[in-house]
Amino acid sequence: MGIKKIAKKDIGNLLHQWGKDYTILVPSTEGDTALTVHGSRFTVHGLWDGSDVNLDWHRNTVKPPKSNFLPPMEEMFRFQKGKEGHSIELPQEERRQLIFGIRPCDARSLRLLDMIFTDVYQDPYYLPKRNSAVLVGLVCLRPYDSCFCTSLGISPGGSDDVDLLLTDIGDEFLIEEISDKGKRLMELTAGLEDATEDDITKASEAKEKAYGKVTRKIDTQHLKDKLLSSFEDETYWEKVAAKCIGCGICTFLCPTCYCFDITDEKVKKQGARFRCWDSCAFSLYTKMPMENPREEKWQRVRQKVCHKFEFYPMSFDVIACTGCGRCIRLCPVNWDICQTLEGIRDRGGDHQ
Ligand code: SF4
Ligand code: SF4
Repeated sequence: MGIKKIAKKDIGNLLHQWGKDYTILVPSTEGDTALTVHGSRFTVHGLWDGSDVNLDWHRNTVKPPKSNFLPPMEEMFRFQKGKEGHSIELPQEERRQLIFGIRPCDARSLRLLDMIFTDVYQDPYYLPKRNSAVLVGLVCLRPYDSCFCTSLGISPGGSDDVDLLLTDIGDEFLIEEISDKGKRLMELTAGLEDATEDDITKASEAKEKAYGKVTRKIDTQHLKDKLLSSFEDETYWEKVAAKCIGCGICTFLCPTCYCFDITDEKVKKQGARFRCWDSCAFSLYTKMPMENPREEKWQRVRQKVCHKFEFYPMSFDVIACTGCGRCIRLCPVNWDICQTLEGIRDRGGDHQ
């Protein structure tokens, strides 16, 4: 495995090289990619405009990376009715994406989404984008106090799901090759220096320190079984759901939620088919094809929790939560999934 480094001031040069082959997405607060939530400087991965990239202030983005592979609204195809019947026009193939500065927890969320989009069928919209993308990870040195990734087996310095991993070591970034894709990218990259033993030690100390900064914990042992035995406990779920206003923010911004609707828009003889994010937090969810099977709010809140911590483990033997904490810090009424899981842990029958 090659270990290189680059001065922070030279990151622009690196992105210019990679930009010849990829659409570059960087953490940004500029232009229409900026979002301010609760008065704080929150960011999204936006199109790189060629200017200098300063990651010193960067914490995690508001919008998760799923939006680059399953966009909030995506045109699936256009159609037109002619004399010979309907003709279909598929969207043009997009350029390969390089997501620069993705956090290890968010890179894991894509692996969790892959299970859905390759399980029952191979999704022809998600997979080409996902398979051609390169993930350049950035060790998370300043986790939020709402983060609990370490309880889900993820580390702020984890490299399992990225192609390259960058660590801030002062005036420079250490760059580690992780996957074959990352190796190929490095082979095409000029202007990097070999890292020294001292640089490597600095990076591993920074990762260790970052791990210790994630102080929020959840206990996932027997959680699936405890949720199963608490499933019908309406009193508990009503209490849990009491303050939720059903806005759907926690599901839209959760990196592992993927529900969508499909809609046709038609004017005279032509139109287009779109898919758009939907949320199980909404009372109108699934109302279009049928009735919503979860009429009560507490049932919808229960669905959100059980989907990640009970149903996903049943289907894929893995929890579909990365502990990114977005659903906690961005909820307008401070609903906290960790408190709900703690309540479940303290009840739910004998699974010790
Ligand atoms: S963000 Fe909060 S209020 Fe909105 S649906 Fe989620 S839990 Fe409910
Ligand atoms: S449930 Fe919350 S903490 Fe878990 S991945 Fe989704 S947004 Fe992040």
